[in-house]
Amino acid sequence: MTSLDDISVTQLKGVGSALAEKLAKLGIHSIQDLLFHLPYRYEDRTRVVPMGSLRIGDIAVVEGDVMKADLVMGRRRSLQVTLRDDSGFLVMRFFHFNAAQKNHLTEGARVRCFGEVRPGRAGYEFYHPEYQVSPPPMAAAGEATLTPVYPLTEGIQQPRVRGLCQQALGYLARFPIKDWLPPSLLSDYQLPGITDAVKLVHSPPADAAVHLLMEGRHPAQQRLVMEELLAHQLSLLQVREQIQARAALPLLPTGDLPEQFLDQLPFSLTGAQKQVMKEIRQDLSQPVPMLRLVQGDVGSGKTVVAALAALQAIGSGAQVALMAPTEILAEQHFRNFQGWLAPLGIELTWLSGKVKGKARQEALAAVASGQAQVAIGTHALFQDEVQFHRLALVLVDEQHRFGVHQRLALREKGVGGQLAPHQLIMTATPIPRTLAMSAYADLDTSVIDELPPGRKPIETVVLPDSRRDDIVERVRTACRQGRQAYWVCTLIEESEALQCQAAEVTAQELAERLPDLKIGLVHGRLKAVDKASVMEQFKSGELDLLVATTVIEVGVDVPNASLIIIENPERLGLAQLHQLRGRVGRGEQASFCVLMYHPPLSNNGKARLQALRDSQDGFFIAEKDLEIRGPGEVLGTRQTGLMQFRLADFERDKGWIEPVKEMAPALMQQPAVVSALIRRWLGENIRYGEV
Ligand code: ADP
Ligand code: MG
Repeated sequence: MTSLDDISVTQLKGVGSALAEKLAKLGIHSIQDLLFHLPYRYEDRTRVVPMGSLRIGDIAVVEGDVMKADLVMGRRRSLQVTLRDDSGFLVMRFFHFNAAQKNHLTEGARVRCFGEVRPGRAGYEFYHPEYQVSPPPMAAAGEATLTPVYPLTEGIQQPRVRGLCQQALGYLARFPIKDWLPPSLLSDYQLPGITDAVKLVHSPPADAAVHLLMEGRHPAQQRLVMEELLAHQLSLLQVREQIQARAALPLLPTGDLPEQFLDQLPFSLTGAQKQVMKEIRQDLSQPVPMLRLVQGDVGSGKTVVAALAALQAIGSGAQVALMAPTEILAEQHFRNFQGWLAPLGIELTWLSGKVKGKARQEALAAVASGQAQVAIGTHALFQDEVQFHRLALVLVDEQHRFGVHQRLALREKGVGGQLAPHQLIMTATPIPRTLAMSAYADLDTSVIDELPPGRKPIETVVLPDSRRDDIVERVRTACRQGRQAYWVCTLIEESEALQCQAAEVTAQELAERLPDLKIGLVHGRLKAVDKASVMEQFKSGELDLLVATTVIEVGVDVPNASLIIIENPERLGLAQLHQLRGRVGRGEQASFCVLMYHPPLSNNGKARLQALRDSQDGFFIAEKDLEIRGPGEVLGTRQTGLMQFRLADFERDKGWIEPVKEMAPALMQQPAVVSALIRRWLGENIRYGEV
């Protein structure tokens, strides 16, 4: 039987090839695609609101007579039309208008219009409202329905999409949508069938619960939300299956490398580190590729855990790759690992995009021959020209953005291209449980939920930038006492160039004001060697103060640094600030973080900085960030499409995460259902987070 998926949108009235092309940009090809192009909100145009009751920000329909219509000159010419009803006045203002509009909107005309109330120079105003002159009577109460609002693309307007969806609904009588969910599940949660749900959200009946629909909590919407979350969950489980369909080299080490390593450490592992190691060791001994995410707050000691995992691979005669997102961090790991592993007779190689010429050839040869047991670098490690001899374990540090695509691609990099390497991904961004369950459904997770003993809390203060002089003095005092400090410059523009410029200016200014201090500067535009040498000078204590951009956000470990100044913290996410703050508090002495904001601070901004001042618990802070800014911000994947839903809203709908996780495994047994649901909700544009 034909299904709606096989019927092209070009079958609809008014859809020619030009419109079809635009629809394709929205991922809409078939009638079914169109029906799953869902309204993300509604407008209530069911009743006329008295003008006297309007408040700024209201979105409403009003109706009245034109009192006067004037061309107003001002800074920009506009057509200003004053309407009146029994209760008050409202101005419609048009900056673009044509002669016909001017002719219609004359004194005495009856007008109904729809818009958002703004404060204007003539009182409350609607800018460019939708309007009708001499409107037909309003639908009687009880007949009117909410107006759906759809996502659009250039060249398609709301009414067009609305019309097409209404046409598409006409097909449902003959071609109901296939319901893939078991009826028992729907009755358990008292949810409607798929066809009814789709009909209702596109065309809510007059008696539907308006407040539920406006909030996205109507059972029809919730049915779709649940199915959408389920489809995302299934797509990740499918990735996991695809990776684990490959065999892996079981890592069953001989010898006592781990013991030797632990003996040379100046500390013993925390209970949490031991527990996580147990989980990793267990995974690595299996003939199935490990897929594990290790979460641990800043400073919880993930690097040691990574080193122990590496030793398990090396002890089994295999190779390890360690990848970090920035040169600074990769370089720091290289030094750390070199210091730890070289004494055990292990060979390491450094490889980044900036390693060129002969050095590169040598590094590639060492990796290809297996002479290098550990290769450390940036994502350059996984370019095609890099051939490993016997790669069995990939460690990815501080890179929760390392996406599903990359995890899939790594399959090919293992021994003989056949055996997939084990994957261990580490992140210092604590990920709230619900979010981890849905964004990383393809990974097992371990949590290092304990800090090494003796860490002192970081005292955080929030100060306006009018106190800059005091703050500079504070830096002077700290450095005179033999401690070191970071000064972090941030900019809202995501332009790296501007960030670097700001840091340069600040470094210069601080150098003038603090002539007795040795000041270094790092930012993303420095050459890798220069960055590394500045970092090295800071680490060795030659520099007192390091001025930096957010490039030092992750991983940088200088225990003697005990003061960090963060400029314009109001522009950063909480999780990111927590990371930056985590650069201090790593040593013996008491540490301080100064959040130097630029007033005025919004209420929301105040609340966020206070949350940071009052807590050092990364998980608590991440929960707050999730509430305030949403999952894209917490994961740092706003731009990549990961966790972008059509209908689901992570905060509102997080109650579904747990049930969805429970129902997914049974559905995985039915590949036809899995692919149909993934196709329906993720379409052909499955976009996973890119590095
Ligand atoms: P992160 O989890 O932020 O990557 P690191 O691995 O960089 O943390 O460790 C932070 C600091 O704590 C390092 O200086 C490291 O040597 C030290 N460290 C790690 N584990 C322990 C431990 N069990 N006891 C004491 N110090 C430790
Ligand atoms: Mg680290």
